Amino acid sequence: MTSILVVEDDEAIRSACRRGLDERGYAVATAATGLAGLELLINTGADVVLLDLGLPDVDGLALISMIRAAAAHVPIIVITAQDDDPTMIRALDTGADDYVVKPFGTDQLAARIRAVLRRAGASGGPVPPVRVGELVIDERARTATLAGEPLELARKEFDLLLALASRPGEVVTKRELLAEVWRDAYGGSDRTVDVHLSWLRRKLGETAAEPRFLHSVRGVGVRLVDPGADEQA
Ligand code: CA
Repeated sequence: MTSILVVEDDEAIRSACRRGLDERGYAVATAATGLAGLELLINTGADVVLLDLGLPDVDGLALISMIRAAAAHVPIIVITAQDDDPTMIRALDTGADDYVVKPFGTDQLAARIRAVLRRAGASGGPVPPVRVGELVIDERARTATLAGEPLELARKEFDLLLALASRPGEVVTKRELLAEVWRDAYGGSDRTVDVHLSWLRRKLGETAAEPRFLHSVRGVGVRLVDPGADEQA
C-alpha cells in the first residue's frame, strides 16, 4: 500500500487530505508541525510527502532540505497558497517535485501523487512496459506500439495514453487528465482533452462512435480497455 505523509498545520486541510486519500486506498499519516512530520518520516518512512510550506515551527524551504537529507528520493509535493508564486518556485528549486495550490480537490491531489510516483519509478530501476491488449507503452523510451507497429504520438498524446494505461479499465475524469497530463486542473478546458483524445483515437485506428481502446463515459471521463478482453466478457 502506498503511504502518504501529510504535513499541514491547517486541521481542515489535513483531515480533508486524510479522508480523501484514505478513500482512494492510500495509507495516510499526518503531522501538524514540521518537526513532527520529519520525525514520522524518519521513523516510519513514506512513499510521498505532502508538505504545507507555511508551518508554525519550521520554514517550509528549510524543511524540504531536511526531508531531502533524511530521505533523499522521497517525492515531495508542496501545498502552496494561490498568490505565492515566488515561494513555490523556490520550493521546486530546493527539491520539491510538484505542487498543489490551495484550494485543491482530492482528484487533483491523487493525480499529482500518481504522477510523482510514476516519475520516481521511471528514474529508478527498469520499468516494464505497460500492456493493454495489443497496445504496449514503454514509459522510459516514450514509445508505444499497437500490434507490434510503432505509433507516432505527439508528446501530449503519449502522456494522455500513459495516464489512461496506468489505470486500465478505470474511468479517468477530464479534470484528472488535465491535472496529470497538462498540470492544469483549474485553467484547462475539457475541450483540450477531447481534442487530444480524438487525435489519439485516429492513431489507434478507431472513432468515438466505434471505440476499441478508448471508451468515453458521458459526463464522467474516459477509460482505456483491452478490446480483446471486452469481447470475451
Ligand atoms: Ca499552513
